[in-house]
Amino acid sequence: MLKCSDCGRDLPEKEALVHKDEQGEKHIICPECFEKATGIDYKTFAYRKENAKQTFFAVLFCLGATIYAFIEKGPLYGGLGILLTILVYFFSSKAR
Ligand SMILES: [Zn+2]
Repeated sequence: MLKCSDCGRDLPEKEALVHKDEQGEKHIICPECFEKATGIDYKTFAYRKENAKQTFFAVLFCLGATIYAFIEKGPLYGGLGILLTILVYFFSSKAR
């Protein structure tokens, strides 16, 4: 059993969250204190983080495809790839 370092509540391990304060020190806190400290609830935070990761990989994939198209098919397809990358980035950051 863990303890929330903020409110002192006992925490089941799966509910414990690691939060870094302004000094860069890590604390074990409960979801309620996480919400108080960051202003967003943990689910939203986790969702945003996951979303950002997916966007990153989608953009990375498109960039790879762009470079491949540029080398294999020439500048026209390379240009299309860049356009596609921008579109993917735009839509996935909007989807939040
Ligand atoms: Zn707490």
